[in-house]
Amino acid sequence: MIAAYDVEWLALRKGYKPAIRLAVEPAEAATHEALFVRRGAAVVRSAWQPPDARPAQEILYVARRLREAEALREVEAPILRGGETAELGGAILAAGRLLGYPPCCAEAFVDRIERARHLGLGALRGLRKRHLAACEAQVDQPRWELNNLFLEERLRLITFEPCRYDCPPALRFAGAVFGEIEALSAPDAAALRGRLAVAVALDAEGRKAEVQIDEGRIAQAQAPLSHDDRVLSPRDAALAGELEGALLGEAQARIAGLLVLEFR
Ligand SMILES: [Zn+2]
Repeated sequence: MIAAYDVEWLALRKGYKPAIRLAVEPAEAATHEALFVRRGAAVVRSAWQPPDARPAQEILYVARRLREAEALREVEAPILRGGETAELGGAILAAGRLLGYPPCCAEAFVDRIERARHLGLGALRGLRKRHLAACEAQVDQPRWELNNLFLEERLRLITFEPCRYDCPPALRFAGAVFGEIEALSAPDAAALRGRLAVAVALDAEGRKAEVQIDEGRIAQAQAPLSHDDRVLSPRDAALAGELEGALLGEAQARIAGLLVLEFR
């Protein structure tokens, strides 16, 4: 069990990040808003709702000062309204800047959605998009600080997709957030590091499993546990079942897009 640190708030509070964007259920918006106001932050709501969002979402922009929250709302308005990605690239980069994402990572994000559009993948969303981002960020030695595959499990230092799993500015950001957690609880920080510095198998559908690979064989595989030690996704558990005991090469031939990232 590790406390569910609000890493975005820790980063915002220390000025590593100008603003936060939250998409929440409309019924919960007021609760989130009140929490940030209690913390002394400024909060504004999106003036415009994406009509096709399922489930319905309310978007909140949080910053230390009102004008930064409003700036992010303004920058994101044309993105929410939709349109050609080519025209929105500048707006997405500006939003990335206000969210404190490294420029190289924001540019890689824009390139990726543009490429997906050219490939006819259209609205490549959710878990498939995550798989594509992870494939493109793969490097020989992925750094544990940038393991962003356990967002739902609330085990992470960053909430963006890094351009590479050893991106220097992303590592500086993650290191600063880790320092904040260490200052709050050294045992939690050590435990978090242990949970992120693992080998993760990810398939094209975005299913993921923690694996231990021994001489080309997946000796152990398990669904990742959340910060409070629960398995959140039966799909992840199913992947773990398919992987355990298999030869890695054989699993890669059988399971579409299977990627192994050895975060350390
Ligand atoms: Zn980067």
